[in-house]
Amino acid sequence: MNNNSKSIEAFRLAQNHIPGGVNSPVRAFQQVGGTPLFMSHAKGAYLYDLDGNSYIDYINSWGPMILGHGHAEVVKAVQSQAQQAFSFGAPTCAEVDMAALIKKMVPNIDLIRMVSSGTEACMSAVRLARGFTKKNKIIKFEGHYHGHADSFLKKAGSGLATLGIQQEGGVPKCVADDTLIATFNNIEQIEKIIEQQHTEIACIILEPVAGNMGCVLPQKNFLERIRTLCTQHNIVFIMDEVMTGFRLARGGAQEKLNVWADLVTYGKVIGGGMPVGAFGGRKDIMSCIAPLGNVYQAGTLSGNPIAMAAGYTTLSILNNTPSIYQQLERATQQLKNAFEIHFKTKQKEVQINQCGSMISLHFCTQPVTNFSTASAGNNETFKQFFHHCLAHGVYLPPSPFETWFISAAIQDAEIKKTIDVVTAFHW
Ligand code: PLP
Repeated sequence: MNNNSKSIEAFRLAQNHIPGGVNSPVRAFQQVGGTPLFMSHAKGAYLYDLDGNSYIDYINSWGPMILGHGHAEVVKAVQSQAQQAFSFGAPTCAEVDMAALIKKMVPNIDLIRMVSSGTEACMSAVRLARGFTKKNKIIKFEGHYHGHADSFLKKAGSGLATLGIQQEGGVPKCVADDTLIATFNNIEQIEKIIEQQHTEIACIILEPVAGNMGCVLPQKNFLERIRTLCTQHNIVFIMDEVMTGFRLARGGAQEKLNVWADLVTYGKVIGGGMPVGAFGGRKDIMSCIAPLGNVYQAGTLSGNPIAMAAGYTTLSILNNTPSIYQQLERATQQLKNAFEIHFKTKQKEVQINQCGSMISLHFCTQPVTNFSTASAGNNETFKQFFHHCLAHGVYLPPSPFETWFISAAIQDAEIKKTIDVVTAFHW
C-alpha cells in the first residue's frame, strides 16, 4: 500500500477552506471513497503526489493533456509568452493564428470565438442557436454533460451522475422546462419530439461520442438522422466536442464519424492544459454574435495570450503529426483487446467501450449504449477496481460515469503495466 499521509492531511485542511475540499466535485472521490490524492507535479505519462508516489495518468486533467504532461514545445511556448505579457484585453495575432489553424483542422468552421471553458462554449452556442432561430427549447441527452450552466444540469452525466444529484438546486423551473431530455441512441424518440415540438426547438446539443457516462458510442445512423432532422426543421445541430475535439482526430468526432454539425463547441485539448474553450461553425449563425449581431457574449480573459500559446502549440503538433492519432488508437485498442481476452477467460461480465483514445469499463452484463445501461454497472465492484488500480500506480477517473483518456506519452511500458494491474484484479 502507498503511504498517503500528506494527501490525507492536505485534504483535511482543504475542507476547512473549500467546499468539500475541492474546486470541482468529481475530484472529491465521493463515489469511490477514500482521500483524493493531492498532486505535486507531472511529467509525460506520470503524476506524482505529495507523498512521492507515482501513477500512470488515465485522467490527463480530464482530457486536455493529450500529448502528456510537460511537453517540451508547449512548455517553451508558454514560458516565452509569459516573458512578453500575461494579458492585454486587446486583440493579438495569436488569436488569429489559433482561429486559422482550427479552421484548417475542422473544415466546417467558418468563424470561431474563443472563451475560457467548455461550459462557456456550450452555453454561448445555445444562446446563439436561440438568437438565430428565435426559438427557446433545446434537446439534450440523458447522461450527457455540457458544463454547469442552468440549461444543462437536467439529467446530466459526469459529477451529477456520480453524486446522484436528481434535483438540481438553484436552477429556475422556467429554464429547466425549456430543456427537453432524450435517450442517446433512441432515434424514434427524437423523431417524435421533433414532430410534436419543432416550431419551438432551437437546437439539439449532444456529445457525439459521450464521455460523461463512461465512453458511449453513437449507433449506426443515429447522428446522421439527427443531422437530417435538424436541417429539415430549422434546428441548429450543436456537437459538443469539448472532450472529443482534436482528440478523436484532427477534425474531432465530426471527422472520425463523418457527420457535420452547424455549431461545434470545444474545450480541454484546445487549451493544451490552459483554460480555453471555443464555439464556432456556420458563418450565417456565427454572424449573429456581437459585435456583428445582437446575441451577446464576451470574456475578460477570452483568447488569453498564454492560453493561446499552450493551445496553439498543442494543436500544431497534432496537426503536423497525424501518426499521433494512430498511436493513440493502437495503444487504446491494445488495452481493450487485453482486457476483453482476460475477462472472457475468467468468465466475468465486463462491458468495454472504446473510441479512439477514449475507453471505459462497466461491470454489467448488457452492452452500454445510453445512460440507463451505463447506470446498471456494479458500483461496489467499480470502487474495489478503482482502489486496486490506484494502489498499484494506475490513476483512473474516480467514477464509472467518466471515460479514461489516453495520452501520447503512454507507451508500451505503461500499457503493459496497466494490463498487468487490471488483470490482477479479482472479484
Ligand atoms: N462539455 C463536455 C462534453 C464536457 O466533458 C465538459 C467538462 O467535462 C464540459 C462541456 C464543460 O467544460 P468545462 O469543465 O471546461 O467548463
